[in-house]
Amino acid sequence: MNLRLPTRFCTRIALLVVVFASFISGPLASAANWTVRAQPTRLVNGAPVLFQIKPPQRLGSLNGTWLGHEVSFSFDAKSKMWFALAGVSLETAPGTYPLELTGETQAGKAPSTKISFSRKFTVAPGKYPKIEVKLSVESKFTEPSPEQQKQIEEGQQIKKDYLNRVTPQREWSGEFAKPAEAEISDVFGSERIFNGKTSSPHLGLDFRVPTGTPVAAMNDGTVLLARPLYFEGNFVVLDHGQGLLTLYLHLSEFKVKEGDQVKRGEIVGLSGGTGRATGPHLHVAVRWQGTYLDPSSLLRLRLP
Ligand SMILES: [Zn+2]
Repeated sequence: MNLRLPTRFCTRIALLVVVFASFISGPLASAANWTVRAQPTRLVNGAPVLFQIKPPQRLGSLNGTWLGHEVSFSFDAKSKMWFALAGVSLETAPGTYPLELTGETQAGKAPSTKISFSRKFTVAPGKYPKIEVKLSVESKFTEPSPEQQKQIEEGQQIKKDYLNRVTPQREWSGEFAKPAEAEISDVFGSERIFNGKTSSPHLGLDFRVPTGTPVAAMNDGTVLLARPLYFEGNFVVLDHGQGLLTLYLHLSEFKVKEGDQVKRGEIVGLSGGTGRATGPHLHVAVRWQGTYLDPSSLLRLRLP
């Protein structure tokens, strides 16, 4: 008995299987031989995410779009996977969002071709403390004079000019390190009240350190800013590339200048209480492509 099916019929079945596989792709999806992973596996608003991709064929480059951001992937020879750090802004509503991937085959003799894949991720609501911390700061921070208002606006312009930059070249590598070994005094996302007026949520992580404590770079990067600003006090910003910045506030002293290259662990300044601070402490913040992310989540990521 001849059980062979017509070739064209077999091709159609194979095609259906592929379409079905990409349709049912869940966590750790491997559809049409693409493997797409996220770390942590549960995505929440306000947190960074590491995407790891294994495409079905060897690629020369891999790029993606995620929540309206361009994401460029690097190849990790050890795991043979492409990886990129991205994030979900605090303002992102819970829901399902696609990561759209486009890879270009390695440029050889043959002309390169593009392959693409899309995978949806669920963003769950992050749990951030709603504790109202009643803090008292000098009135110049809540009711500034016209002269102080001018300084505030200058600071805002500097932040607008610098903090949304995306340097294409990746400088960070490996895990991010704590800027100081100290107790955490305030977490990311908590709501605070200054002199009875509700301020924006706390967009960084506070370390309880006395003035003069060495503050270490969280990863390799270039010093983007090292100057005093009205609210931030003595302010250091490191650019780690691909839109990832770390910010160090209220320093008593600078140990780097703008344009310097630093390695993870290198001292960028000494802690203090300059700017809008109720006392000496270290406030660090993480920005990715113009949005603040939870530094403690970044510190927990196991990165290539
Ligand atoms: Zn803080």
